[in-house]
Amino acid sequence: MNVMKVKEEMDSLVKKDTDHLWHAMHRHVENQPTMVAESGEGAWFTDVNGNRYLDGVSGLWCLNLGHGRQEIIDAASEQMKQLSYFPLTLSHVPAINLSAKISQLLGGSYKTFFSNSGSEANEAAFKIARQYHDQNGNPGKYKFISRYRAYHGTTLGALSATAQANRRMKYDPGVPGFLHTTPPYSYRSLFDQDAEKSDLIAAEMIDQMITWEGADSVAGVIMEPFISGGGVIIPSKAYLKRVSEICKKHDVLLIMDEVVSGFGRTGKMFGFMHTEDVEPDIVTMAKGLTSGYLPLGATAVKSDIYEKFKETGDHNHFRHVSTYGGHPASCAVALKNIEIIERENLVNRVDELGNSILGKLKELIEHENVGEVRSVGFLYGIEMVEDKQTKKPASDELIGSIIGKCKENGLIIGRNGDTIPGYNNVLIVAPPLSSTEDDLEFLVDTVKSAFYGLK
Ligand code: PLP
Repeated sequence: MNVMKVKEEMDSLVKKDTDHLWHAMHRHVENQPTMVAESGEGAWFTDVNGNRYLDGVSGLWCLNLGHGRQEIIDAASEQMKQLSYFPLTLSHVPAINLSAKISQLLGGSYKTFFSNSGSEANEAAFKIARQYHDQNGNPGKYKFISRYRAYHGTTLGALSATAQANRRMKYDPGVPGFLHTTPPYSYRSLFDQDAEKSDLIAAEMIDQMITWEGADSVAGVIMEPFISGGGVIIPSKAYLKRVSEICKKHDVLLIMDEVVSGFGRTGKMFGFMHTEDVEPDIVTMAKGLTSGYLPLGATAVKSDIYEKFKETGDHNHFRHVSTYGGHPASCAVALKNIEIIERENLVNRVDELGNSILGKLKELIEHENVGEVRSVGFLYGIEMVEDKQTKKPASDELIGSIIGKCKENGLIIGRNGDTIPGYNNVLIVAPPLSSTEDDLEFLVDTVKSAFYGLK
């Protein structure tokens, strides 16, 4: 194809995009060039102009096995040929096998309810928790506690658990009964300089909140084991253990949002497994469950909680249904995805390479604009500051210039933190778990040279 023709086609695509496609989270900026992806291979994708990029954030932290896994494509296509659709008001083979596999991976007895996304998985968790307490003789338990900086999804319940002011302000008031407390964010903690002590104070605040609200009114605490979308916040191990004890003490369900951290991202199959003796009551999943090949959400619930839904009575079943939730093709993809993660020993690989190759990102702490580098497995957050002493967040220009330099050199990295102005100051690195060692070396070199090439 000649160059003119390619340019015309590109212009027409961009015009159609501008005229018709409503992008997620996108501020409308006239004539802003759009990244239009055309193809992908492994951890890399190519845009319609032929530029190649390493995807250092796995899409939206979901493309854990990278692009183009033929086995997954075949699993979807064979399943679609065999049984193209079937609802889970009845049952089908891939959903049965996947629910059993999830129980095995969680190491306990769980019942899994399928949906289509992380937000829906959390919505199901909230409804299950409220109904469970109701049917367990505690109808007053309806409140949920989450932490500031948390992101739990985009639908109104999940958004109400999300505690980032600007994400919610146009949609508040949210669902009643969602309360927020301090995260275990030792870098900016007001309590103590010692990370573990400050994290434990944050845990005790949950205890105090439950007591002050009245334990009889609190249904659950929802948290990620490591806050991802709120700036990669990694608590000390003691934190989750203590939160779990507090929940048990008050008969409050511990809901682990493993939407990002599940399926190997953190160097364990699930993030909560970094802490011994923690058995969440409910675990929610999406993203890495299918590595992003097809949509699927899952809410795994301890079997003793499920028991309360078996009792007779017209209204005691879970009155929640999703047409596409647990689609046969999505379940087949998830099963194949998990088979590959296990066969390729990806969880251990993430643990090792997350420390060795990606670990070199920790050297960035020497840079005057880096306040903290936080990490677990293939999940890195580089908190950028203007000044290490005052910890004032780095300017948008500075953060934008690092991201821009990486992009110029063929690497996409992300950015988050809090949505309040100025505090969106954490660079995010979360490459596919199957990235090659060369990919990871390239990523580290590109990020480092973006920092050190600044001056
Ligand atoms: N929970 C967490 C921790 C997330 O990061 C996200 C999305 O980024 C969600 C839930 C919502 O998932 P989804 O976008 O699939 O609805």
